[in-house]
Amino acid sequence: TILKEPPKIQRLDDSVVNRIAAGEVIQRPVSAVKELVENSLDAGSTSVNVAVKDGGLKLIQVSDDGHGIRYEDLPILCERHTTSKLSKYEDLLSIKSMGFRGEALASMTYVGHVMVTTITKGQLHGYRASYRDGVMENEPKACAAVKGTQIMVENLFYNMIARRKTLQNSSDDYTKIVDLLSRFAIHYTNVSFSCRKHGASRSDVHSIATSSRMDSIRTVYGVSVARNLIKIEASDNDSSTSLFAMDGFISNSNYVAKKTTMVLFINDRLVECSALKRAIEIVYAATLPKASKPFIYMSIVLPPEHVDVNVHPTKREVSLLNLEVIIEKIQSVVESKLRDSDETRTFQEQT
Ligand code: ADP
Ligand code: MG
Repeated sequence: TILKEPPKIQRLDDSVVNRIAAGEVIQRPVSAVKELVENSLDAGSTSVNVAVKDGGLKLIQVSDDGHGIRYEDLPILCERHTTSKLSKYEDLLSIKSMGFRGEALASMTYVGHVMVTTITKGQLHGYRASYRDGVMENEPKACAAVKGTQIMVENLFYNMIARRKTLQNSSDDYTKIVDLLSRFAIHYTNVSFSCRKHGASRSDVHSIATSSRMDSIRTVYGVSVARNLIKIEASDNDSSTSLFAMDGFISNSNYVAKKTTMVLFINDRLVECSALKRAIEIVYAATLPKASKPFIYMSIVLPPEHVDVNVHPTKREVSLLNLEVIIEKIQSVVESKLRDSDETRTFQEQT
């Protein structure tokens, strides 16, 4: 047999490596919005406003009133692996911020055009700089600015033709962005959020800071959802298992929907957990056989060392210690709450 010559292995250019990695972190416009909003929340903002053009492909603009970015930091702001949130690996064990990788802004500059306007406390004016491929394109220009930071991402995926085409044909990215902001709005009740199409006077999500979770759910998801919710709580301080606390709202038997809505925060991070979602759906199907798919808002708090936040480049999933125990506990709380509420209802209908 004739052995073929092995192909030569070569080192990829940084620019190629970075563009490949960026496509993974920023999968669609909504992923960029999530990163930007998380940065705004990490910056201690009390107000986060989003404007979007063409489903986010033409423009994503996120403005906040957070602590801003130092002038000296602007040159490296969008380089890969530059962050103010982590300095050594061990910090990850106790990380409270949502960001830690220093990759999001960099990624955006590899797949779009990024412009940052920011002002820090006590400054008379702000600065504006634009970035491409990780690099600041010009000296920061002094400009008028109100408190905080505004980040604009334009022409997302301009250099990824296939992805741009696929996304152009799907009209649902704006819907995904609205959905994302709705989720943040009902968890971060001390922050006001808005989301609108660029140029539109009406916003599609508009929440005001409130002390009541129920009020914010009513504002964001509407009365028809809010009036059919049951409060749930669970905690486990048994030293044999993990410490955990959960609280939230779940829909009762009067709620009608074709699809499950599950808004899940673990240690204040918006995440997905399909195992938990399925486990709750099973309880609904068994307890309220005629009821529709549930609406669930749930916030779970665990010791930070029990959560591995670093399992996915988009940080969409986290992995938990003792997930089975936690799921069982939540299932039993959900089941008993649903039974109680269903019995009350049957009783009310009879009388
Ligand atoms: P990470 O959030 O993982 O640190 P990012 O690329 O998302 O990485 O952001 C890099 C850094 O830029 C952050 O660590 C933070 O210091 C700064 N930054 C980004 N967005 C904002 C913002 N809206 N307000 C203040 N600082 C910000
Ligand atoms: Mg970030």
